[in-house]
Amino acid sequence: MKLWSVFVHSDMNKILRPLELQASYQSWWNYKLGKKRKSGGRSKGSSGKSGTVQCSRCGRIVPADKAKKYTKRVSAVEPQLARELRQQGTYIQTKRVTSYYCVSCAVHAGRVQIRQASERRTVPGRRSRN
Ligand SMILES: [Zn+2]
Repeated sequence: MKLWSVFVHSDMNKILRPLELQASYQSWWNYKLGKKRKSGGRSKGSSGKSGTVQCSRCGRIVPADKAKKYTKRVSAVEPQLARELRQQGTYIQTKRVTSYYCVSCAVHAGRVQIRQASERRTVPGRRSRN
C-alpha cells in the first residue's frame, strides 16, 4: 500500500538522520551524498531566506537569488517607425521590462550555457563535489 510505504520511509529517515539534518530533504541529501555545488546554485551566501519570484517563461516559483534576472528595454513603437522618428529628432521613451528565468528555462532558452567539467570554475586546492 502506497500510504504505508510513505509512512515507513519517512519514519526510517527520522531514525537514520541526525537531529540537525531533519530540517529538509536537501540537507539530508548533502549529508549522505555530498553537494554538487557549494552554493547550491544560489547566490545568497550565509543569509537566510530570500523572497521568491515567478519564472516568466514557465511560471515556476523560484528563489530570487537562484533565478536569472534579465532586463531589457522595450519600446511601444515599431522599430522601423522608431528609426524614422528618431531621424526627425524625436525622443522615444522605452519601458524597462525585467524578467526572471528559472535555471532550466535559462538553459533551455540559451541564456546560460552548460560548461564542461574541465571548463567549470574551480578553486585550486579545493576538492570538487564538496
Ligand atoms: Zn522556468
